[in-house]
This record gives sequence, structure tokens and C-alpha cells, in this order.
Amino acid sequence: MTLYADGLPPLRDVIKTYDLRAKKSFGQNFLLDLNLTGRIARIPGDISDSVIYEVGPGPGGLTRALLAEGASHVVAVEMDSRCIPALHDISGAYDGRLSVHHGDALKMDELQLMKPYDHQKKRIIANLPYNVGTMLLIKWLTSDVWLPWFDSLTLMFQREVAERIVAKPHTKAYGRLSVLSQWRGNAKIAAKIPSSAFTPPPKVDSAVLHFEPTKPLDHTVRLKDLELVVQRAFGQRRKMLRASLKSLPVDPLVLLERADITATKRAEDLSVADYVRLAKTYATLRNGS
Ligand code: SAM
Repeated sequence: MTLYADGLPPLRDVIKTYDLRAKKSFGQNFLLDLNLTGRIARIPGDISDSVIYEVGPGPGGLTRALLAEGASHVVAVEMDSRCIPALHDISGAYDGRLSVHHGDALKMDELQLMKPYDHQKKRIIANLPYNVGTMLLIKWLTSDVWLPWFDSLTLMFQREVAERIVAKPHTKAYGRLSVLSQWRGNAKIAAKIPSSAFTPPPKVDSAVLHFEPTKPLDHTVRLKDLELVVQRAFGQRRKMLRASLKSLPVDPLVLLERADITATKRAEDLSVADYVRLAKTYATLRNGS
């Protein structure tokens, strides 16, 4: 059996040994090319000073690349119990620099998990299961405390979702995910990955998104208000704002005028800064001032 530089067998052999046939229910599309996982691991730059939080390591292709690139520690959360023994082999080959947790990433308390690494840089790097990717992104971007506990996110998404995250105003892809992500930081598409790179290949192409949080320009806007006005505006994106914002408990015409936004504009015409102003004005009006 060929062994890699890390002394571990090729991923195809790992899959055979532990019978890790991909299951749809877990959103499993594996990356078996360690050159490709190496490229993904290098997207954030030098990770040798970083602790990595990885969701869904599966048979460990990306995990091995993160460790080979020198991550000081990898904390991995995997839901499929079949993968755990294979991941323990990786931990053994890398002197315990990998901690494996069996569970659902949507329910994980990351602050608690990452507590032992308080004074180190922390990055999230993951080839996410498609079915929970957006939910996890929203969980991480809606942290009450901002700046958040992580220094960057490097995440695989369906290409169409990644394009929505980085989309600019006046485009069809611009929506709730774009406003939330761009309000919280800088997002870019760092790599496009064809579906043929995965085993089994998914129906759609993928892209790796790289995101770095930025300090809020305006501390006074509340996430709850921003989410509400954005949701109402894009909920009826083809309507003019004076109509789509009617379901808010304030007069939409007064709201728009006070926020200095033309009432005949549509959701996709507003910049992130416009939405921040709209949310703040909404909060003031609702409080009766
Ligand atoms: N990282 C591996 C790779 O690149 O080959 C596997 C990626 S596969 C797209 C997604 C992985 O996430 C699978 O191993 C799956 O079992 C795991 N997974 C699915 N839902 C999960 C959840 N809610 N929490 C943690 N892991 C999950």
C-alpha cells in the first residue's frame, strides 16, 4: 500500500478500510485529491499560527492538508460515527494535533470547544455539507459579539450560494445573504471547484468562499432590526419598497423618507449602508420618536 508523506494511506484506501461509502443523508461528497485539499488549506495564507475549526472532516482529506500545512491544532466536528476511527488514525499520525468531536455542528457551542485556544488565531475551514452550509454560515455571522471568535472563514458552498454571498446591488443574486455577509466583513470567492473534483460528484459546481470579519462601522444598529427590514424588502423583491415594507408596524412612506431612500426603489437597489440606515430609522420610528 502506498503511504503519503504523513505516513497515512491514500483516502480511497481509508474509505475501503472503514467502509465509508458516501451517504446522501449526511451531504457527503468527498475530496480525495490531497493536492486540491492542500490548495484549499492555503487559501487563508500561513496557518501555522492558527487553530482550525473544521466541520465535517469525513474521511479526512482536508483535515490532513490542514495538519500538513502546519495548523497548530485542528478541532473537528463530524456527525457520521463511521468516520471517527479514521479520524483517530490521523490524530495519531500528527501527534494528537487533531481533536475529534462526534456531533452535530449546528448544535455545537464553538466558544466552549475553542476555549482552550483563547489567545491563538482561530479560523474556520471546511468542506461543508451542502444541506447545512447556509445555516452554519448564518449561525456564525449572527454572533451577538462582533468581532466574533474566529479570524476568518474558508468554506465550500454550491457555487450559486457563494455567488449570492458576494453579490453586489442591482444584480439578481443580491439578497439577504449578501447584505448580512457584507455587513459583517469582506467576502470573496477564492476558488471555483468543478463537481468532478468530488466523490461522488454532486449535481452542481462548487466554490470556496473566504471571509474576514471587519469591525462594525456603526455600533448602534441592531442585528434584529437589520434582519427584519432586509427580510421584508427581499421577501417581495420585485415590488417597490413602499409596498414591500408595508408589513412592518410603521408607515413605510415615513420610514423611507426619514431614511432618505426613494420609495419607488426595489430591494436590490439598496446598498448595505442603505439597509443599515433603514434599520436604524425603523428602530427609532417603532420606538415612537
Ligand atoms: N471534509 C470532507 C472532504 O472534504 O472530503 C467531507 C466533506 S462532505 C461534503 C461533508 C461532511 O460533513 C461529511 O463527512 C458529513 O458526514 C459531515 N456532516 C454532515 N452534516 C453534519 C453536521 N450537521 N455536523 C457535522 N458534520 C456533518
